[in-house]
Amino acid sequence: MATGTVLIIEDERNLVGILTDYLKGEGYRVESAFDGARGLELWRAARPDLVLLDLMLPGVDGLEVARRIRGESSVPIIMLTARDAEVDKLVGLGIGADDYVVKPYSPREVVARVKAVLRRASGTMAAPDRFTVGELSVDLGAYVVECAGERLDLTTSELRLLAELAREPGRVKRRAELLASMGARESFADERAVDAHVKNLRRKLGTCGEMVETVRGVGYRLRDRR
Ligand code: CA
Repeated sequence: MATGTVLIIEDERNLVGILTDYLKGEGYRVESAFDGARGLELWRAARPDLVLLDLMLPGVDGLEVARRIRGESSVPIIMLTARDAEVDKLVGLGIGADDYVVKPYSPREVVARVKAVLRRASGTMAAPDRFTVGELSVDLGAYVVECAGERLDLTTSELRLLAELAREPGRVKRRAELLASMGARESFADERAVDAHVKNLRRKLGTCGEMVETVRGVGYRLRDRR
């Protein structure tokens, strides 16, 4: 069961109700506000572990709410936006949201993002260390990787990189994130080193190699393509 408090700031009350039900069903405590001013009040009072923040709010809008929260805290914020185009704008503004969800969204998707962001926020110590994506399984604790039941021989760096991708299948990981996942023992001067590791990784993964996808200009993601 998940733990923690999620604050939802969103003026569409039916969405708040649905998200509240789903999050409570997963074990989270939920606080909610229907406008920005009340949201900021609640944020100070409840000190949530994560904020789900709608962009278009009456009164103090989501952007301003995010700025004020960021002025005081690094609490994870997931922005709820109406259009993909808004995400580009928000990223450009550098408000420091941890993730973005574009409406219409499924409550399940939002809950999955909440879990993923909280997992990242809590650091790798608390993160699970076994992942299965399609035919690929990665056991970070035992240093074992298997594709279709066949054990593969990877270096520690390759294993860590693969685990970072497998942790959140389908999510694009930037080179900097992948570099960080490999730890500080190898000091790469250049994020391009990640590309070299990915190239080796694809080759060693055999038939599972095609699951590692390049997202041009951004990074890589792992996806079960069948
Ligand atoms: Ca709204």
